[in-house]
Amino acid sequence: MTQLMNKSIGELHDLLVKKKVTAKDLVLACIEECKKDTCNSFEATAFEEAIKASEKIKEVKDEEYLKGIPFLAKDNYSTKGIETTASSNILNGYIPLFDATVIEKLKRAGMILVGKTTMDELAMGGTGTSGHKGVTTNPYDHTRIVGGSSCGSASSVASGIVPFSLGSDTGDSVRKPASYAGIVGFKPTWGRISRFGLFPFAPSLDTVAYFTRNVKDASYILTCLAGKDKKDMSSSSRKKEKYQNYVLSHKTLKRIGCFKSVLDSIEEKAIKDAYLNVLNGLANKGYEIIYYDFPQYLLDSLYPTYMIISCAEATSNNANLDGIRFGPKADNDPQTYIEYMKQCRTKGFSSIIKRRFVIGSFSLLSANQDEMFTRAQKARRMIVEEMERFFDNIDYLLVPASYSKPKKVEDINYSWSKKTDFLENIMTIGNFGGYPSLTVPLTFIDGLPCGVNITGRTFEDGYVLSLGQEIEGITGLKNLVANKGE
Ligand code: GLN
Repeated sequence: MTQLMNKSIGELHDLLVKKKVTAKDLVLACIEECKKDTCNSFEATAFEEAIKASEKIKEVKDEEYLKGIPFLAKDNYSTKGIETTASSNILNGYIPLFDATVIEKLKRAGMILVGKTTMDELAMGGTGTSGHKGVTTNPYDHTRIVGGSSCGSASSVASGIVPFSLGSDTGDSVRKPASYAGIVGFKPTWGRISRFGLFPFAPSLDTVAYFTRNVKDASYILTCLAGKDKKDMSSSSRKKEKYQNYVLSHKTLKRIGCFKSVLDSIEEKAIKDAYLNVLNGLANKGYEIIYYDFPQYLLDSLYPTYMIISCAEATSNNANLDGIRFGPKADNDPQTYIEYMKQCRTKGFSSIIKRRFVIGSFSLLSANQDEMFTRAQKARRMIVEEMERFFDNIDYLLVPASYSKPKKVEDINYSWSKKTDFLENIMTIGNFGGYPSLTVPLTFIDGLPCGVNITGRTFEDGYVLSLGQEIEGITGLKNLVANKGE
């Protein structure tokens, strides 16, 4: 029974349709796996509710691809009746009264929510080490990070607990951990999926995103989640599509772009070789590979631009976390609102969050705004305009999703580095332009996974998925689960 949860959504769906298992069998198997978790993947569980929901499912029809399948959600999605903290002390004890739109849609499709996963505090971070429950580790090697901020969602899919979990992606928080965990991580086009009920970090960049173990499953999930939502003004009213059709019929576009400076800068030989191998494989399948000179000064501006914009937006969007509406109360008899808030925020936020809020407030101060925030907005515009030129003649950008093995937990430090590696921040391009962007497994280095990332034009999510599936065929890497030594 325990091996059941190593299967993909598609495989479990077949078993359900053929009545070889029931939805309840799956939920019970999933709960067993949750209990054996060795990565620190969980913020909260909802076992009883999950069992109840599964008992209501009597049969699954062929077209009900998602029905009866257990899943997990990152702890920054509002879930009715389940404590939701975004892994921050400031939200301890907060129990939402409503489900996020995506949770509601997945439940309506018959999926079963089994629990909430750990994350970097308030989704700010890329290591999976800053949440209030401590470090979430990589199932391939517990001395290493699985990456973040959607760490628990990545570790749970990679370690065979669920075949699908929700994350969120503001800079690369699904696509980077997917790389470190050997799974598929997809950030669809900004606006394609409603964000109602997703705690905002930087709304001009935030996207509902998720993990699966193969691209086909990711395409069915998007079909379920896409669409206009009255409750989210930024959700697009563009027509929904059946994204699985791109994958099932191998409907792709043919011109693949590769940044010259990326190729020149990859230091890890195994990653470079595997990346070139995929480009070769695609060329052999009739794709055109185009080398593009993306200006280095724009690449070097990715990280500072991202930090200023995301911290500025985060500062203003998290203003409601003042200790009054949510979280632990002030205890030193504050006399004013400001004093009250200061006390709550001092104990509610870790130093990483405080630093980001300081950067955000500093760049929004009227004395600094032109020099910092407005300038970052202009830099973003220039990066996106260059990408639009890229997309005039090229259909996809292909880059490695990570450039080294996942780091050792003990090597993570939060000190501020002036020298930032543009390679490690390259996927922020996907958020700046709102582009659909997908990570799929590329190779293994010393037993540790590393992914490759595809970015396409806005609303060409289906094509991006289809190319992802093509790459799965070239690498042969799909449906991977870390060996738990069973
Ligand atoms: N690494 C990025 C950061 O530190 C990504 C965060 C995200 O996508 N939520 O902010």
